Amino acid sequence: MKRLYPLFLSLTLLVFSCSGSKKEEKKETPSVKTTMKQGTSAPQTMQVVKKPATPSVHKECPHSMGKKPHSGCPYANRHKGKAKVFFTKSLTPEAVVAIYDKIKDSVSGKKIGFKVHFGEDMNVTAIKASFPELLVKKLGATLIETNVLYVGKRRYTKSHIALAKRFGWTYAPIHILDSDGQLELPVNFKHYKNVRVGKGIDKYDSLVIFSHFKGHGSAGFGGAIKNVSMGLASIGGKMALHATGIPKIVNPGKCIKCKKCVKECPVDAITLDPLKIDKKKCIGCGSCIGVCPLQLFQVPWESTKKNVFHERLIEYAKAISMHKNMVYINVLKNITRGCDCKRTPQIPFTKDIGILASTDMVAIDKASFDLVNKQHKCEDAFKKETGVSPKVQFEYAKIIKLGTAEYELISID
Ligand code: SF4
Ligand code: SF4
Repeated sequence: MKRLYPLFLSLTLLVFSCSGSKKEEKKETPSVKTTMKQGTSAPQTMQVVKKPATPSVHKECPHSMGKKPHSGCPYANRHKGKAKVFFTKSLTPEAVVAIYDKIKDSVSGKKIGFKVHFGEDMNVTAIKASFPELLVKKLGATLIETNVLYVGKRRYTKSHIALAKRFGWTYAPIHILDSDGQLELPVNFKHYKNVRVGKGIDKYDSLVIFSHFKGHGSAGFGGAIKNVSMGLASIGGKMALHATGIPKIVNPGKCIKCKKCVKECPVDAITLDPLKIDKKKCIGCGSCIGVCPLQLFQVPWESTKKNVFHERLIEYAKAISMHKNMVYINVLKNITRGCDCKRTPQIPFTKDIGILASTDMVAIDKASFDLVNKQHKCEDAFKKETGVSPKVQFEYAKIIKLGTAEYELISID
C-alpha cells in the first residue's frame, strides 16, 4: 500500500544517540509541514503541504489508503492477536534473504528504502555492509539514513555518505533522508503534537527497517523501535527526542560575534549582546549547535528523564508507523552494551543469537529482548548490562497501540 502523506553539539563524545496518553490520535489524516534542510548551512523556506483527501479503507484506521492495512498499523495489530516473529539461528547474507521472504508480502510498491546504520569510526561491532548486501541488491533498494545530533562525520550529509562508502556501503544508492529537509507529522500524543522526520521518507513506498539489536545507554536496547523513531527523525526531531527542545548556551562571554548562528537560525531567535535564545521563538531545530565554531550551543542531554525518553521513542515510532508502510529485520549478533554510535571498540556481552523478522516492531523487539534474556539467564539483561530497563517501552507501546508484545516465535531453520 502506498502512503503519500504525506544540535549539535559540540560534544565530541561518543556515546549519544545515535541518540497519547490513552487518547486516540486524531481520526483525520495528518497534514504535513516541511521545514528547513538539516545537515546543510542554509535555512530553507517553510512550506505547509495541504491535507490530501484520504479514503479510509479499513474501518477504524484513519491512515490506510490501500486495500489492506499497512504493517505498522496499530489498529490492524489490535485485531491480529499474537504477531508472528520469524527466527533463524543462521547469521549469513543468505539467511537475511530467507527470513525477509517470510514478511515480503507486507512490502508493497517498487521504491524500497532500506534503513540501516552505517557504523562509526573505531566501532567494530556494527553490522557490516556485506551482511544485507544480497537482500538490498535483490530488492533494488536504496540505503536510507538520517544525520545525527552529535558532531562528527555522520552529522553532515557529505561526510556521512563518504563514511558509509568507506565502510563498504557502495552497492546501492545512499539517501540521507533529512538532506531533503524535514516533514512535520501532526499527532496528538502526551509528549508531542508533531514529530519531525527526514523529508526523504516520502520518496519510498515501503521501508525495510534493518536493525542491529544491541544495548543503548539511554534506551536500554536499540532495535526496531529505536531504528524507526530516532533513526528516521530529522536533527530537529532527534533534539526533541533527547532534550527539552531548546539548546543551552555555555560560556556566552566567549562569543566572538561571527554571527554564524544568527544567520543560521530560521526564526531569528538568537540575539548577541548578550548572547541569548528567545525561548518563545526557538523551534528546537538544533541548527545553531552545529554551526558555532566555539561550540557555545549544546544539547541539554540531561533535561530528559529516562522514562520520558522511552515514551518519546514510542510516540515517534507510532507517528511514523501511521505514515509509512514498514517491515522489520533484527540482527542479534555482536550484542554489545553500547550502541553503534560509540566511536570505540566494544566487546559483546553475550553470544550471537540469530536473525528475526516481523511486520510488528513491538513484537520483534520483545522477541529479541526475550531471546537475549533467555541466553543471559536473567529477566532484564539490558538493565543488568546498561543500567537501563527498556521494559517501559513495551508498556507504553501497548498504551498507545504501537503494536503487540504478544508474539509467536516461528523458526525457519
Ligand atoms: S556562532 Fe558562536 S561565536 Fe559566532 S556569534 Fe554565534 S555564538 Fe557567537
Ligand atoms: S535558537 Fe534558532 S537555530 Fe538554535 S535551535 Fe532554536 S530555532 Fe534552531
